[in-house]
Amino acid sequence: MEQFDVIIAGAGPAGLTAAVELGRDFKVLLLEKRKPGTTNATWYSYADRAKEYGLDEAVAVRTDYIKFTSPTETHFMRDDCVIFDHHKVMQIWLERARENGVDIRQEEFLDYKNAAGGVEIQTDKGSYFAPLLIDAMGINSKIVRKNDLIKRKDAWVIYGARLKNVDFENPQQLEYYPLNDDANTYVGIHPISNTETNFYLFKGEKNTLGKPEELKEKFEEVLRKTQPNAEKLETLSGSIVSGSLKKYALDHIIFFGSSGMLNPDGCGMGFNEILKKHRIFAAAVSKALKSHRLDQKSLEKVAEKLRDQEVIHFQKIIGAFSLYFIKSTSKWDGGVKWLNAMGEDSKNWMRNEMDLDWLKKANIRLHKSIPISETVKMIPMDELPFIMGQLVRFTHKALLSKVREGVKVLPGLPGFPGLPGLKSGETDEHN
Ligand SMILES: Cc1cc2nc3c(=O)[nH]c(=O)nc-3n(C[C@H](O)[C@H](O)[C@H](O)COP(=O)(O)OP(=O)(O)OC[C@H]3O[C@@H](n4cnc5c(N)ncnc54)[C@H](O)[C@@H]3O)c2cc1C
Repeated sequence: MEQFDVIIAGAGPAGLTAAVELGRDFKVLLLEKRKPGTTNATWYSYADRAKEYGLDEAVAVRTDYIKFTSPTETHFMRDDCVIFDHHKVMQIWLERARENGVDIRQEEFLDYKNAAGGVEIQTDKGSYFAPLLIDAMGINSKIVRKNDLIKRKDAWVIYGARLKNVDFENPQQLEYYPLNDDANTYVGIHPISNTETNFYLFKGEKNTLGKPEELKEKFEEVLRKTQPNAEKLETLSGSIVSGSLKKYALDHIIFFGSSGMLNPDGCGMGFNEILKKHRIFAAAVSKALKSHRLDQKSLEKVAEKLRDQEVIHFQKIIGAFSLYFIKSTSKWDGGVKWLNAMGEDSKNWMRNEMDLDWLKKANIRLHKSIPISETVKMIPMDELPFIMGQLVRFTHKALLSKVREGVKVLPGLPGFPGLPGLKSGETDEHN
């Protein structure tokens, strides 16, 4: 049986980025069931990230805002945004992986079993052994399913196409707007050039991995009405899933990307999260491989490096607000009002770059921009104890840090002294 240091199953953004990094020091096998370098997604990101991760040559369009619309409000989220040519991104990573000596094969991962010092895996073409298997097979990972690992899952379900001959008033606008239908469907527009655009519908759903095909008919209808002359170049579809797993590693197996629920609640989105985290992940995996610490407990520690516990607490709260806006009959009016109230700080939500000060500001502005009766409705009953506990914890922390700094506390900060919050670093994510 052929042996490797690391086997990576799945060559989406997670598998490819991990392969590029780990290929430098280890003998890596990368398995992909489709033609390697293929994707059904489309990605917006930010100029600083494109530069930092060497993806400038894959940038198709640069814009300095994202436009969000609701029935009565418009928000221009100011930021240095980029829209990638998704095929170019994949080709760049594929070339880098090959240059770093990664063995890339078009094979379907079928199953695995633990063997002495590692895992034996079975594909449709052969069997291989490695001390470490990285599961980067996305939301339908066979390993996650086999071990029944999903604890909670919510999905943005997406269906659309890359279009040619589009006719937009502003063809270079990165934009999201609601269709104002009962299902609360949204439109996402990622321009690629003056004549080509990635155009898709998406819908937020709870407790699902999503069925993108269910949006197909609606997408065709919207396309006929809004872009009658457009020619379809390729289908874009999938789900962006957020939630939590019961375990983030098994003996000799670790998850990376959407198989490991890397997409945060609320926003940030999966591709951007992988960009931000892949070097951290690879460095921690590399250390574990070199020290032969590949049991579940040690690998859980590697996985924890991807999940800043403070940020996860923020995400759950912001995620609860987002879910409310998605389902609300006011069709995102409250959400876009809140983005407007956040002003130039709104971009931290989309970037998933939130800290305690940001959350405090977000909290105050939410209460100021939306009636308290609505704010209360935003918190789903099953999340209420967690969220109240967190609000208490954040409020206390904010107050304490201000007291320590000797600075006057901002007026209007809602506080719930006396209620128990989780201790710092404590989370429900790993139970
Ligand atoms: C239309 C659309 C727009 C999006 N827009 C954005 C955006 O603007 N910004 C953003 O941050 N995110 C965005 N996303 C989300 C982002 O694309 C995903 O979060 C990201 O692709 C997840 O990467 P991954 O590598 O974990 O999983 P995937 O991309 O799903 O890759 C998994 C890979 O594993 C392969 N695989 C699966 N099973 C097997 C098997 N048994 N054997 C071998 N190979 C297997 C699959 O073929 C696939 O190539 C968008 C998604 C879609 C669909």
